[in-house]
Amino acid sequence: MSKKILILPGDGIGPEIVAEAVKVLACLRDDFGLAVETEEALVGGAAYDAEGHPLPEATLAAAQAADAVLLGAVGGPKWEPLDISVRPEKGLLGLRSGLGLFANLRPAILYPQLAAASALKPEVVAGLDILIVRELTGGIYFGRPRGVETLDSGERKGINTLVYTESEIERICRVAFDLAMKRGKRVCSVDKANVLECTELWREVATRVGADYPDVELSHMYVDNAAMQLVRAPKQFDVMVTTNMFGDILSDCAAMLTGSIGMLPSASLNADGQGMYEPIHGSAPDIAGKGLANPLATILSVAMMLRYSLNEPAQAERIEQAVAAVLDQGLRTADIAGEGMETVGTAQMGDAVVAAL
Ligand code: ATP
Ligand code: MG
Repeated sequence: MSKKILILPGDGIGPEIVAEAVKVLACLRDDFGLAVETEEALVGGAAYDAEGHPLPEATLAAAQAADAVLLGAVGGPKWEPLDISVRPEKGLLGLRSGLGLFANLRPAILYPQLAAASALKPEVVAGLDILIVRELTGGIYFGRPRGVETLDSGERKGINTLVYTESEIERICRVAFDLAMKRGKRVCSVDKANVLECTELWREVATRVGADYPDVELSHMYVDNAAMQLVRAPKQFDVMVTTNMFGDILSDCAAMLTGSIGMLPSASLNADGQGMYEPIHGSAPDIAGKGLANPLATILSVAMMLRYSLNEPAQAERIEQAVAAVLDQGLRTADIAGEGMETVGTAQMGDAVVAAL
């Protein structure tokens, strides 16, 4: 039976980069027997403009009915004046909660061909391959009580609350350990157990889950040290698992180590293995509509989708090898080109990946 993929191009460069990823999917379907059906829907600013809401009911229903969702990007200056309740980013949050996407997987991989483009010295990062597993539906971003109160004195008080149940911690840790089994067999659990009781519990549960995985080496790190180690010696890490907020910060940090914002995919998964896949970068309004955006992060997001939601690891590898091949050929969009290198546009890069396939 064909797997169903919902395509959400979104805003800014979203439609341009998603078009290239769709070419890749079509090639796998037509030439390599991948059984998929695609359907397209509106999200973000594009949905607001057409229907007055960044996540129309039909889009959420289609996402829930699909095996996986491929998203481009949402947002842009055009919609910034809008009320926060109908901003394009609300569409994303609605998809996350509507699909129960509690596990956010963010690989930070530096292709050796691009080591010179990194923010750090090539010898520090060449061959970097970290997977950050961020809890996405709990923690301080969702905990209650929250808000800003006015005290009797007239002074205002801001409140956010860090909350995790044991089962929430356990399920995200299991995701991390399962993934580590297929990689370098090391998990680093990041917390602030010396100060925050909630993350003391996190550490305890991580340790308990780790006992079920005797082949995986578990370490614990305080978040401040983890941030320092990520910058000092990032290659020591294999899988890192952490809370929503720590993961938000550490995954951006790890991504920037690679210096390749246009290269990095992400996955957000629920308990049934349904997932939403998107590049880590945003809608890049500064280059939208110009055919300059790098489509590889989106194309690599399709590879993650094949691996994690569609159970097609061999097809995923095909894409990853094709991407490595176009980099070997010296093809570069502007964001990953070294000084004086010739560059190609969005469609040329997508076509080259299809040709390499
Ligand atoms: P968001 O708030 O949605 O995360 P942002 O403002 O943080 O967005 P991006 O939209 O990711 O940032 O863009 C940051 C910079 O990186 C911009 O200069 C943009 O042009 C560039 N950029 C982002 N994605 C790509 C891409 N796929 N190819 C080339 N350049 C990109
Ligand atoms: Mg950003």
